[in-house]
Amino acid sequence: MTHAADPPEADAARIVCDLRSDTVTRPDAPMRAAMAAAAVGDDVYGDDPTVNALEAHVAALLAKEAAVFVPSGTQGNLCALLSHCARGEEAIAGRAYHVLTSEAAGASVLGGIALCPVEIAADGGLDPEVIDAAVKPDDPHCPVSRLLCLENTFHGRAVPMERLRAAAAAGRRRGLSVHLDGARFFNAVVELSVPPAELAGVADTVSLCLSKGLGAPAGTVLAGPSELIGRARRWRKMLGGGMRQAGVIAAAGLHALRSNVAGLAEDHRRAGQLAQELRELTGGAQEVAQATNMVFLGLAPDTYMKIVQHMRQRGIVLNPPLPAQRLVLHRDVGDAELAVVLDEFRAFFGRNSEA
Ligand SMILES: *Cc1c(COP(=O)(O)O)cnc(C)c1O
Repeated sequence: MTHAADPPEADAARIVCDLRSDTVTRPDAPMRAAMAAAAVGDDVYGDDPTVNALEAHVAALLAKEAAVFVPSGTQGNLCALLSHCARGEEAIAGRAYHVLTSEAAGASVLGGIALCPVEIAADGGLDPEVIDAAVKPDDPHCPVSRLLCLENTFHGRAVPMERLRAAAAAGRRRGLSVHLDGARFFNAVVELSVPPAELAGVADTVSLCLSKGLGAPAGTVLAGPSELIGRARRWRKMLGGGMRQAGVIAAAGLHALRSNVAGLAEDHRRAGQLAQELRELTGGAQEVAQATNMVFLGLAPDTYMKIVQHMRQRGIVLNPPLPAQRLVLHRDVGDAELAVVLDEFRAFFGRNSEA
């Protein structure tokens, strides 16, 4: 999928709402106040009290020994893979998982790590047999299977705990370590109603993004065993992710973790409402799928592009198919904005059914 969506031609003030992704969320006033008030130091010296507090907070929340703050989710996954695997070793992951499709094969380019894609089950998880079959024998023809990469949520779907546990157990039986790409970790926590440490407990390392539905401007935290996180810290420096007075950004993340997790349930509720309305408008004839904060449509491509244009003229920004027809709810789309979106969908389908 290309992540380079058309830039909105309307100026920001004319945008009523942006449903392209939850990454478009902008820091609100309380978050900006927390950023402005942050105590800072030089994090490369380990001196930034706010970064240290964020790392300690996430480590404790996830019941991991240590954590490291990195600029992006991509760098979090990359630091994890580089820390788990050496050259010639292999990480097994779902074929449409982000680490395989959307991170420019960084682990292979920079770490000589083979990425082994496997089938993803309907619920977004990996079947134990699929994992078992992907693990290579101890044979000089093969890479050394080292790591299993899971993802939750995957395309919005919160993979159930028992499925994650079964996948992790299948990997561990074959000697693999487990990394969880939890870019939307808290959407899964909220949807599954599990404590964060329970979800994090399925994996050795977990990366979680602060910059998606949680609303921070940037930042991801990678948590795991101290020794491995120490290695990840060296990789972060090598990758250019060692930031100095990063407490200004970390403060936004800490604020997000304390104040914005509960609101994710509201995003899920609004996504459900949007999906329900779209089912009614399309007379149930079209596929409408909702999972956590995302709604996926299965409209004819030309109908969908007409919707994109209709909405754009009214300040509502949708992605072109990426190829999925995906609408994402987030904290900058409240009930008032959703009402406008619903009205515009009604207007579109009303007009087009009469035509
Ligand atoms: C967004 C995302 C990432 C990467 O995050 P960036 O901050 O955009 O680099 C990784 N994994 C998943 C599942 C994501 O959705």
